[in-house]
Amino acid sequence: MRLILLGAPGSGKGTISADLVESYKIVQISTGDILRNAVASGTELGLKASDYMKRGDLVPDDVIIGIIKDRLKEQDCANGFILDGFPRTLAQAEALKKMLADMAITLDSVIELQVPEEMIVDRIANRRTCSNTSCQAVYNVKSKPSKIEGICDICGGKLIQREDETREKVERRLKDYRDKTSPLIEYYKNEGLHSAVENLDIAKAIAGVKKVLNG
Ligand code: AMP
Repeated sequence: MRLILLGAPGSGKGTISADLVESYKIVQISTGDILRNAVASGTELGLKASDYMKRGDLVPDDVIIGIIKDRLKEQDCANGFILDGFPRTLAQAEALKKMLADMAITLDSVIELQVPEEMIVDRIANRRTCSNTSCQAVYNVKSKPSKIEGICDICGGKLIQREDETREKVERRLKDYRDKTSPLIEYYKNEGLHSAVENLDIAKAIAGVKKVLNG
């Protein structure tokens, strides 16, 4: 199973990926997580990406494409993968197409998660993320609180609000989604791979995604 989850920030890509990883025994490739890890460990990649991320801007295509190229070659991708947060521009989608063709593999599905923008801003403003970079579990103070306030249930790490998850930065990221990422919907419709699933309720959205995947 090889799929792309397409959707604005806060549309539920991460939460749905976590479920699919368990259900289908495939790996989640989140470019956001890879970049946050690189920033936290101060690698060359992290230094390149950090300023863009703090502003809520997209990291340049060549940087992201390089990351995915290396990641897809790793052994654990052989069973299948979910691309979460990639591609985000037409240039990335074209690069992915070429990469997959070179590796002689095909995508099964591109699922677009649809959520009204007002709901997204509200969701993200209430989001808290585990500051332990090898965990990065995500909570929501309203809909999915941790058992102890401010502490991760999984690893005991401190929960934080990400710098790019303030209302202002979210508005900026949504504009990027509208301008640069949403053209991918048409792109994948033309490729015959696109399906849409509404995510107003996470359990229903997961069921909807599985229905698409199970044909
Ligand atoms: P995410 O967790 O997917 O919302 O990603 C967090 C941040 O990482 C984004 O706001 C971008 O700055 C950067 N990023 C992640 N994936 C990409 C991508 N495919 N292209 C460009 N920037 C990205």
